[in-house]
Formats: sequence, C-alpha cells, structure tokens
Amino acid sequence: MIFEIEEIPEGGFSFDVLADKEHFGIDQPDCTLVDGVKVKGKLTKIEREICFSGDLEAQLKVACTRCLKPFPFEVKSKIQVHFIPRIKEPSPGSEVEIKETDIEKEVYENDRVDLSGPVRDQILLDVPLMCLCQEDCKGICPECGIDLNSNQCECNSEGKIDPRFAELLKLKDKLK
Ligand SMILES: [Zn+2]
Ligand SMILES: [Zn+2]
Repeated sequence: MIFEIEEIPEGGFSFDVLADKEHFGIDQPDCTLVDGVKVKGKLTKIEREICFSGDLEAQLKVACTRCLKPFPFEVKSKIQVHFIPRIKEPSPGSEVEIKETDIEKEVYENDRVDLSGPVRDQILLDVPLMCLCQEDCKGICPECGIDLNSNQCECNSEGKIDPRFAELLKLKDKLK
C-alpha cells in the first residue's frame, strides 16, 4: 500500500481500495486474514508530513481461546496515521531535535509512505486477547482434550483422575 508523496494533491487524496492480504503478513495459525483488507480514507499533505485518516474492514479467522477451534472474526476500525520524513544524518549543531520515542508517528523514506504496516498493526490491535467462538464456549476438557461443545467425556462425572496418573495413562497409550 505504497503512495508517492508527489501524487498527493493539495486538497488531499481520497481512495477506497481492497488491498491484497499478502501485503499484511497476517497468517499465524491462530490469526489469519482470509481476504483482502478494505481501506477507505484520505491522505493529506502538510508540508512534509503526511496524515492518513480512514476506515478499514478485514475478515479474519482466529482460534477460539477456549476450544482452539478457528472461527470467522471481522474487524471494522478507524485508523489514523501520521507520517514524518526520516531525517538523514542531521548536520552537527542542527537545532532540530527529533524525539526518538515518538511512537505515535511513522517515519517514511524515499518520498513515499507505506500504509501496510500501520493497517496491520491496527487490525492486530482490534483482535481481543480472549476470542471466543461463542459466548458460552465450553472449551476443551483439560484432561482428555475433547471438545466439550460437541462431545461429553467421563472426566468430570467420574471424579478427577490424579494428573500424575493421567500422564502415566498417556504414556501407556503411546507405548502401544
Ligand atoms: Zn470455542
Ligand atoms: Zn475429558
């Protein structure tokens, strides 16, 4: 999602695109983009600083925190990005001081800005730490690993197996 600064007119540049999911590299086993990302908004130029303000929409597949089953998850979000140019080798005695810790701002180089990174960060920020496939997901049985949403197991009804004994049973199964 690269934009040449030269091509941003005085009044700003509005666009509405479906950006290929390959731009964003979101493809972890527990969080994957299933389609392109809709990005809509406006780039504006104020001297050498570039602002982007817009909306994004992304379809993801995330793993349920409790049962680990993948399920569709939609992100709809506002996005604001502020780009400043990288200053090459500030001349000695230069009075301009750049705060290195200013993480709110993205730095751009070579007269172009890339929205892919900020869009990816915004998407990941909108995926909650706890993602449940359904509000009352029962999760998986900690002892036998069965999905309790669609199955039942004997673990709870027959009293808990001593975890050390459970380990031995697993070992025994492996040796078969
Ligand atoms: Zn679940
Ligand atoms: Zn069980």
